[in-house]
Amino acid sequence: MEKEKRKCPRCGAEVGQHSNGKTKAGSRRYRCTCCKREYTPNPKKWQYTESERKKAMRLLLLGNSGRAVGKALGMNKANVYRWAKEAQKKSPVDVDKSGDENRRF
Ligand SMILES: [Zn+2]
Repeated sequence: MEKEKRKCPRCGAEVGQHSNGKTKAGSRRYRCTCCKREYTPNPKKWQYTESERKKAMRLLLLGNSGRAVGKALGMNKANVYRWAKEAQKKSPVDVDKSGDENRRF
């Protein structure tokens, strides 16, 4: 059996890196016994597929809350909120513009 080699991101120690359970996303967590730092070498938060993302966006557009969507699709709700934010940035929003025009009149 091969043992995974881990390096502490804080103090750089390669020994005493113990597996310390998993994060909510399912990534393995580690703990450095030298400086007591806990870290996640491979956070899983970006590992959703495009179709999962689209499904989440559709559910959001139907009026579901980010929390409900996350629960329905088994993903982190913070993830859903982030996608919603990104989608808002991409699509042109003219709320600010119309506000300017109103001020002029
Ligand atoms: Zn350390």
